[in-house]
Amino acid sequence: MEKTIFEKIVDGEIPCAKVYEDDSTLAFLDINPNSKGHTLLIPKKLYKDIYQLDENISAIMMKNVVKISKAIKKGLVCDGINIVMNNESSAGQIIFHAHIHIIPRYKNDGGDWNKKKNYSELEKEEIIKKITENL
Ligand code: AMP
Repeated sequence: MEKTIFEKIVDGEIPCAKVYEDDSTLAFLDINPNSKGHTLLIPKKLYKDIYQLDENISAIMMKNVVKISKAIKKGLVCDGINIVMNNESSAGQIIFHAHIHIIPRYKNDGGDWNKKKNYSELEKEEIIKKITENL
């Protein structure tokens, strides 16, 4: 079966802007972020969606979502954070490898926060530094 893009990231076949990693999960910046610091947390092993997650991996994922959210709050000094998980295409899932979106929000971003944006490489590096310093 063709690997998912996230399996290719886990296997080092395509690069990512890494925010956090442990034995079973990996977090990296979303390539087309809704806001600066938009991060994805994935299980390294392929689980297609929330329905396939077992208790063990879901507990680890949630623990890491909390850890990363706190680091984003401190490092990026955002005004809020949305946690989102899309499951099945009807709910907007595009990549069928379970992932949780951690989306920093900023005051007055209401008009365009859900539009996809781009980063420069320098900006990515600065954001990663600010988050990882606070993990
Ligand atoms: P969804 O499946 O709708 O929950 O979203 C998939 C997300 O993965 C989108 O926000 C994409 O911008 C993001 N994405 C796709 N390819 C990559 C990649 N190579 N590196 C980082 N993020 C990606």
